[in-house]
Amino acid sequence: MTTKAVIDLSACRHNLSVAKKAAPDSKCIAIIKASAYGHGMVNVAKALNDADAFGVARIGEAVQLREAGITLPILLLEGFFSEEELNLVREYNLDVVIHNETQIQLLEQSKSDSITIVIKVDSGMHRLGFEPKELKSISQRLGKCSGTNSVIKFMTHFSNADDKHDDKTLKQIDVFFQSIDKISVDEISIANSAGILGWPQSHATWNRPGIMLYGVSPFINGKAEDHNLKPVMTLSSQLISIKSVKKDETIGYGSTYICKKDMKIGIVAIGYGDGYPRHAKTGTPVLVNGKRCSLLGRVSMDMICVDLSEQPNSAINDPVVLWGEGLPIEEIAESSETIGYELLCGVTKRVEFIYNN
Ligand SMILES: *Cc1c(COP(=O)(O)O)cnc(C)c1O
Repeated sequence: MTTKAVIDLSACRHNLSVAKKAAPDSKCIAIIKASAYGHGMVNVAKALNDADAFGVARIGEAVQLREAGITLPILLLEGFFSEEELNLVREYNLDVVIHNETQIQLLEQSKSDSITIVIKVDSGMHRLGFEPKELKSISQRLGKCSGTNSVIKFMTHFSNADDKHDDKTLKQIDVFFQSIDKISVDEISIANSAGILGWPQSHATWNRPGIMLYGVSPFINGKAEDHNLKPVMTLSSQLISIKSVKKDETIGYGSTYICKKDMKIGIVAIGYGDGYPRHAKTGTPVLVNGKRCSLLGRVSMDMICVDLSEQPNSAINDPVVLWGEGLPIEEIAESSETIGYELLCGVTKRVEFIYNN
């Protein structure tokens, strides 16, 4: 009995090629933070040999990539937070996003050298980054504390790009370009997946595809197939019990589902202990033997219950797909009031990962 996540690395490479074709003049920083959105960071990095660089959030992730033999540039999207981390940045030859005053001071106090620095501009998300009016003095200070062959780049990040009808994205692009207007700038980076697929004005020297690499649409109500993206993770399990339950009996914890008629119920070996979302509602689609069924009642830690009324020939051990090939994760996300990103990141260690090249 196995609950497994099959990772299709060729689909991941295909999705990177979609990002490259959508913006042929840009290079790609493939974003593989959070264990490559739950897919396994080192395996994904090794598969994506067409990437121009990798992006991660934490220094530990970057060190792990270097120790696994990854030689492409690695950008730390949040930079470093102490002198020790700055030393690791040098030791492991990492590129850093600089977004706060403390980071500048740490650079000013350390010996000059040629770390690649990306200055983050806050163009309206108000999470990380410097105010546009601070940029001139900040780039001068950073120019002084870096070595002569270092490159200073500029980046920003979108807050609303997942909504194609929200003009905040165009405003952010405007703020960003105005803010660097009077500074000499070689390389810039703006677009995440939504920018790459939906906002061509944001294509720049470097794009930063994340979720699209894993075959998930970055847009609200979007579908992967609209963009020719292929799912990378297929999460599956098996039926471990089949029961007949009478009308008016209830299913699972809290007895939240009441049978409207005599029903055939399948029990599947997956639950929130594997990362299947506990908030998935009754009616969430599940594929049993490739056919759609509905989740019934609450998700338990190790099991879910599904309606087999339309599938009378099902048997114990039959395969069940929770998302991936044949069942877009976007549907499960919507039915659980979350996003595909969270579902992918949440698959737990108990699940067996199988990599297909
Ligand atoms: C995570 C992240 C990305 C990738 O975003 P997606 O929506 O997954 O494409 C890009 N840039 C930054 C700064 C990020 O943190």
